[in-house]
Amino acid sequence: MNEVIGVVGAGTMGSGIAQVVARAGYHVVMRDVKDEFLERGLAAIDKSLQRDVDKERLAADEKGAIRDRIQATTSLELLKDVSIVIEAVIENLEVKSQIFKSLDEITPRETILASNTSSISITKLGAATTRADKVIGMHFMNPVPVMKLVEVIRGIATSDETYEKVRALTEKLGKTALDCQDSPGFVSNRVLMPMINEAIFTLYEGVATRESIDGIMKLGMNHPMGPLTLADFIGLDVCLAIMNVMHEGFGDPKYRPCPLLKRYVDAGWLGRKTGRGFYEY
Ligand code: NAD
Repeated sequence: MNEVIGVVGAGTMGSGIAQVVARAGYHVVMRDVKDEFLERGLAAIDKSLQRDVDKERLAADEKGAIRDRIQATTSLELLKDVSIVIEAVIENLEVKSQIFKSLDEITPRETILASNTSSISITKLGAATTRADKVIGMHFMNPVPVMKLVEVIRGIATSDETYEKVRALTEKLGKTALDCQDSPGFVSNRVLMPMINEAIFTLYEGVATRESIDGIMKLGMNHPMGPLTLADFIGLDVCLAIMNVMHEGFGDPKYRPCPLLKRYVDAGWLGRKTGRGFYEY
């Protein structure tokens, strides 16, 4: 397969997306702003693929071939010949809009521009380009190599053709595409995040300990992990950003982020990635 797919951002999600895309046989150009971020992303890919080799779910030579299909770069220019770009940089409207504007300038007119945003309006990202019909949300779940869902979000101007192409690609990646309209938090985070936020409120108000809150939701609701553990896994900065988008987007106080969540983010206690969140790692 000679089709080349671009991935912008080599963090938790970008590296996972690059891995899954390369494993499906595509060539990948993965772009980040600094070499050290690319190296960290490639190391995460190596570790994940090696785990599959160790568990005999992947042959060692296949691992090598997958890695050879991923080109890591700090140059945006190398994205000029890709059929689709999947953007996975930080959850910030200005940063993402700027990237979409640049991608619109350097990629061919037919290139689809997809965003892995958790909550930012696809319609707004489309407006940063001259091809809103080709802008779409491809919301992968974390960890990308494991989770089957891609929530596919259509902006106001996204064409049926773009949607069908993205749906077909999602299936080639071995994932299931489920679609929704562009609305703050889409479906996944609109349902998930208020639950996490409410769990943080129960901790904040001293209703229960972190262990009890997580245990109640695990044992009582059959959730694989408790909401505070999940928040640490997702990243507390990401959780706060999503709550803010829904709070502003709906203007409804029921989406106000818990003060304790804000305080943890202010402290730099962002969860697993910084070694401390609601738990210590
Ligand atoms: P992350 O912080 O791990 O990675 C973001 C990466 O983007 C960093 O490596 C950063 O250097 C890079 N970056 C910043 N500006 C850039 C630019 N101009 N060009 C290229 N790279 C740039 O974040 P993440 O958790 O991977 O999240 C990325 C996106 O995925 C966000 O929109 C987030 O909302 C979404 N998302 C996250 C999760 C999750 O559980 N973490 C799940 C689904 C979706």
